[in-house]
Amino acid sequence: MCSILRNHSPLPTLPFIPRFKDQQSFSLILQQNPHLHLHHLKQIQAQLFHKSLHQDNILITKLISICALSGATDYATRLFESVFHPDLILCNSMLKAYTQNGLFELALHFYLRMLERGFYPDHYTLPYVLKACAGLSNVGFGEQVHGSLVKNGGVCDDVFVVNSLVDMYFKCLQSDAAMRVFQMIAEPNSTSWNIVVAGLLGSGDLESAKNLFDEMPERDVVSWNTLISALAKVGELGKARALFDEMPERNLVTWNALIAGFSQNGQCDEALSVFSQMLKSGVEPDNVTILTVVSAVGGAHSPDTDAVDRILSFARSSNSISVSTAVLNLYAKFGKIDDARKIFDEIPEKDLVTWNAMIGGYSQNQRPVEAIELFCQMQAENRSRVKPDGVTMVSLTVSCSQMGALGLGEWVHAYIEKNGIELDVFLSTALIDMYAKCGDLNCSCHLFWGLPKRDLACWNAMIKGLAIHGQGNEALEIFSLMERDAVAPNDITFVGLLSACSHGGLAAEGLELFDSMQSRYSIIPRIEHYGCVVDLLGRAGRLAEAYEFVKSMPVEPDVIVWGALLGACRSHQNVELAEEAARQLVELEPKHDGNYVLLSNVYASAGKWGDVAKVRAHMKAHDVRKKPGCSAVELGGVVHEFIAGDRSHLRSAEIYAAWDRLVERLKLIGYEPDTGALLRNLEEEDKEAALYRHSEKLALSFMLISSKDGSPIRIVKNLRICSDCHRAMELVSQLEEREIIVRDRNRFHHFNGGHCSCGGYW
Ligand code: ZN
Ligand code: ZN
Repeated sequence: MCSILRNHSPLPTLPFIPRFKDQQSFSLILQQNPHLHLHHLKQIQAQLFHKSLHQDNILITKLISICALSGATDYATRLFESVFHPDLILCNSMLKAYTQNGLFELALHFYLRMLERGFYPDHYTLPYVLKACAGLSNVGFGEQVHGSLVKNGGVCDDVFVVNSLVDMYFKCLQSDAAMRVFQMIAEPNSTSWNIVVAGLLGSGDLESAKNLFDEMPERDVVSWNTLISALAKVGELGKARALFDEMPERNLVTWNALIAGFSQNGQCDEALSVFSQMLKSGVEPDNVTILTVVSAVGGAHSPDTDAVDRILSFARSSNSISVSTAVLNLYAKFGKIDDARKIFDEIPEKDLVTWNAMIGGYSQNQRPVEAIELFCQMQAENRSRVKPDGVTMVSLTVSCSQMGALGLGEWVHAYIEKNGIELDVFLSTALIDMYAKCGDLNCSCHLFWGLPKRDLACWNAMIKGLAIHGQGNEALEIFSLMERDAVAPNDITFVGLLSACSHGGLAAEGLELFDSMQSRYSIIPRIEHYGCVVDLLGRAGRLAEAYEFVKSMPVEPDVIVWGALLGACRSHQNVELAEEAARQLVELEPKHDGNYVLLSNVYASAGKWGDVAKVRAHMKAHDVRKKPGCSAVELGGVVHEFIAGDRSHLRSAEIYAAWDRLVERLKLIGYEPDTGALLRNLEEEDKEAALYRHSEKLALSFMLISSKDGSPIRIVKNLRICSDCHRAMELVSQLEEREIIVRDRNRFHHFNGGHCSCGGYW
């Protein structure tokens, strides 16, 4: 876990190295500044030359150790090579530098050269050599070292060296050899015991490790921690907790091990309670603790707000970018996206993970505009330093789908190709979904068929894409190909298939699928599936059957189910059932204006004007306001949004005037504004939402006066398109010879030559 901690403010360093007179003053400088940068080291080396100290083995040894700490092994090697007569201590420091930095091959190579030059390894040399063998799993080399130790006697008695030998054998998966060496140690120290316990645990032998732990003559905190961490990792949390309670003294590592154990095994509430206990006992958390606890909060059922507040205050005072990013993710997950943004703005030097977390947060919280704005900011601020990757691109693509902004989506796609970002299956699936949701189904299919490999999510995206475009038969075809490829469908596949059948008018096929979903694929239907079936039956005019189906459902019907039934009742003129469905809707969502409008429409169509008045009074009394319709179009990379009755657009006057002119021409080819027998009573009062101000009409009018002649017009609407707008769109597509694609809350409508792809059914 430590490796993912990146402290973004390193210890303060000296701007330059003060002059030193002799060996002693130089040593003092090094002691006071253990973290030096390469340019400091170069200044030091120059001074060593100047004072003729550059052949001083003691000083060079110290310099090499400092290089090793900052990873400057190349420079350390050059320093070492510059010394004419290195001694064993200097050699050991070089060997250590390689091993510490994971350069195990170089370490072994260096060791062989030491032997060639006649150095006799001591008990500092060998542990580094053995560590390198372990790192490379080179048991052969390790055995040679072992052999020469036995032959030469002497150092073999050194417990420090023998411990390394035991550790090497364990890490090379030779537990038997390790145990044999361990048993030969005359007086094992606590480190020896700890190595063996850790080794046995590493090889999965929990039982022997536990026995050995019980046998240990003296257990230090490391011994306890080793066992507790191992138990926690394999999910033996009860045993870990028992040991934890039993141990005489605990340190931060102990607490971290137990908290991580609970958190990683999904017991997040338990993890948080251990954390609270830790704070109570006065132990200060470190970044490892905070990272673990933050992820536990994300998974907890009922995180206690007090604990969360304390975690957040610790996190804020930490200067780790990983901790800040984890907290940011947490806020985004809980929908507190503005709080996440505050944390984001406080991070001084953001890396890609942080930018991705914030951009992804916006896209998960349905705030596509901000996601894209932030991406532009990232590009502007970090031209070369932070480069976006596939994760960034998935978030952007999803944001484009949410906005229905095809132009932007195409730009993202081009950006991916231009910058050589790998088009893996996640990104491809996001693009397939984006093109479908933005109305370009051809491009979706093209991408889909071009993929070398398709996973389940990818097939599902394609089926869903075909479904919202009403292409039921094509969706079924894709499904059969998917089965031929032996990809097993899941519940999401069936939501796609069933909605494809209902949008495509394939009632029989849909019902058959619903049966096979349970009998053949053993997938338990969710409310979404039931909703699709009600829709299927309703569209086929089988209203009584649909109502029976709703009543027999094993789950409580939700607004989608009642909404589907109501929609069907309206198309098939069944007032009685419509009234029932609308009443249920109002009960389920008392604050949703649309439901009241529907109920009122039902009463109005049955001539029950008294009931219409009651509904209106109820809406007033309960302060139910109409959610404004909102339509968006994209022109030249800019998204323009229109709200019903909107006059805020810069070209508002032109837009309204153009629409008035257009209506006159539409009337000549048969357009009669459908002021709606059903809605009349409501709408006469509700002047704001008068028909001709519907947001999709404003958007259409804007596009007709602004976009290139003959180019397709794409409109995204937040609510269902009304029948009058639908009729108007059909006629405009004929009159202006323009393809119009409207994505409403439910599906796509492709208007072309006076007709819509939905066949008047939506
Ligand atoms: Zn309308
Ligand atoms: Zn349509």
